[in-house]
Amino acid sequence: MKKMTPQTLAGLSDRTKLVYAGRDPSEQFGFVNTPIYRGSTVIAPTMKELLDRSGRYIYGTMGTPTSDALESAWSAIAGAEGTVCVPSGLAAVSVALLSCLKAGDHLLITDSIYRPTRTFAETLLKRFGVETSYFDPMIGSGIEALMRPNTTAIFTEAPGSQSFEVQDIPAIAKVARAHGATLLMDNTWATPFFFPPHEMGVDLAIEAGTKYLSGHSDLLLGMVSANERSWKALRETYDAMAICAGPEDMFLALRGMRSMLVRLKEQEKSALDIANWLKARPEVAKILHPAFPDCPGHDIWKRDFKGSSGLFSIILKPASQKAVAAMLDDLLLFGMGYSWGGYESLIIPFDCSTYRTVTHWNPEGPALRIQIGLEDVEDLKKDLDSGFARLRASA
Ligand SMILES: *Cc1c(COP(=O)(O)O)cnc(C)c1O
Repeated sequence: MKKMTPQTLAGLSDRTKLVYAGRDPSEQFGFVNTPIYRGSTVIAPTMKELLDRSGRYIYGTMGTPTSDALESAWSAIAGAEGTVCVPSGLAAVSVALLSCLKAGDHLLITDSIYRPTRTFAETLLKRFGVETSYFDPMIGSGIEALMRPNTTAIFTEAPGSQSFEVQDIPAIAKVARAHGATLLMDNTWATPFFFPPHEMGVDLAIEAGTKYLSGHSDLLLGMVSANERSWKALRETYDAMAICAGPEDMFLALRGMRSMLVRLKEQEKSALDIANWLKARPEVAKILHPAFPDCPGHDIWKRDFKGSSGLFSIILKPASQKAVAAMLDDLLLFGMGYSWGGYESLIIPFDCSTYRTVTHWNPEGPALRIQIGLEDVEDLKKDLDSGFARLRASA
């Protein structure tokens, strides 16, 4: 077996890349996988090497063969200059924002943002002198009008992970670039396979590794990948904070990564099947799935995305909270829990109206977010069908 170089890897298709990225059997006594390197201390062979820090590894917080494997693999997948791996998706959001903001700056965030990102801006960033304002996710190039002389970063998420508006990232990237601002994107839903962030003009792309990369609901992890323009500041911020992920979690993420695209495609297919089935149900008013015309930004999704994942929302026809509880409480397969991207199906009610500030969320009935796992779709439909029967009986 020949040694894989970054150049050879770059020429492979996504599926093949996932099999060969981040491992080198010739460096692991022939064993297929990069093992878990646990450690704080790294012994230098000579005083000279210790003092000039010229060794490949210096100290546990600054990188290990395990973190190198995951980060280099992710850079290859995302088409990035570099990647840092941190202990959660929200830590990825925070380290990315801290790498491009300073006191006195203005930050623009989409109103459809993952809620804890909003909390980070309203608490910690505010305390450190960064002012945040919000924009309509459908604003596109209209974001130009919101740019101030001190706007240094724009934070996007496409689609929103509850309400599913698909943002026009290339249009926003153009404005960001013209103003010298950093464009960040939470790309957890599409992953780099369905939306190559840096190719589309994003400077810093966030992926909650907790979701599809892990794929098994058994760890928390975050990835931030950067293009050439933003990499140095990202790495410096990460080093200054030393928020390195645990070796066991990184190893499990590498393991999850090998099957990530296969799972994603299967979950995409099942989610489309179930969303189509739901669309025909009398209890359902609307499907919020980027591949469906009802979804705000559907045309942008068609233009810019290569696929959809296993997460979408539906709006029910008007029903009481009691009826929705009757539907959800006794489901056999769908669990009610936050998070998504694992192998198991989930369903939760949600309401964006309590925290949005510049757009209105006023659906005609209760909203449900559905994550489709790897189960048989007919079993899942049967489970939802029994739920709908309970919803009707309770109405
Ligand atoms: C889950 C999630 C995160 C945060 O990931 P954690 O690992 O749970 O902190 C960030 N963004 C989106 C869109 C998410 O769904």
